Amino acid sequence: MEKRCSFLAFFLPLLWAFTTFANYFLIHYTVQKGDSLYSIALDFSVSPSVILDWNPNITHSRLLPGTVILIPQPSGYLYTVQRNDTLEIIARRFFTTPQLIREANGLRSDRIQVGQKLFIPEGIIGRAFNEEKGMIWPVYGTISSTYGWRYHPILKRNTFHTGVDISAPEGTPVFAAESGVVEFVGVDGGYGLTVKIRSSSYTHLYAHLSRACVYPGQFVKKGQLIGRVGKTGLATGPHLHFEVRVKGQAVNPMNYLPTQSWVLKKEILGVGGE
Ligand SMILES: [Zn+2]
Repeated sequence: MEKRCSFLAFFLPLLWAFTTFANYFLIHYTVQKGDSLYSIALDFSVSPSVILDWNPNITHSRLLPGTVILIPQPSGYLYTVQRNDTLEIIARRFFTTPQLIREANGLRSDRIQVGQKLFIPEGIIGRAFNEEKGMIWPVYGTISSTYGWRYHPILKRNTFHTGVDISAPEGTPVFAAESGVVEFVGVDGGYGLTVKIRSSSYTHLYAHLSRACVYPGQFVKKGQLIGRVGKTGLATGPHLHFEVRVKGQAVNPMNYLPTQSWVLKKEILGVGGE
């Protein structure tokens, strides 16, 4: 798949200018008449979500000819280093290993700086998803509020908390807990920027996002990046509010999530596998 991209990129240089970084490069592609997000994604062997994540100025339904968009090669995402981040913690947030991030960015040591941009190839994401149950943890972070009755910090009264809050820095990737079809993307009152995905048995709700990189009707696979942690809507700080609904009723997500969020897969540990 990626060979096709490099072929295109090599023979049609008039359309693109290149920006080269350590181990990846960016294509500056000018949207042509008749292009769709899907067709561009196909041409460059990236998912539509990668294009949406890199280009907050476009949406699935608003893709004007003449707009210049960035497309990374190989497919992957950018992460801006936050205060208190270490390479180890960033690796955990992408469910991968520090070594793979070092290699992807040509880093000689683990030293990183606030504001530094790290490229995370799509291929290295998810090496530590825990799949012991059907769902995976959508975010690596700290549980700051569980499902059930609680004193609401902003409303200052007891309310029923219909999901689990996982706190993580703004920009932390949010992954689909299960495969499914995107039902809703948009601002939903106190939930802020929200994505709803319907799988075979559940609806998953991801709220307070800073960005979403999916569109209604899109099929997303378990472990695919669907947006970034934020604090939109009623939120005191950046976190993901994650809900699991069965026939419209919110249930306790902890009953469906694996016991641990981050578990290295066998092939990384060198015990058989690929
Ligand atoms: Zn919440």
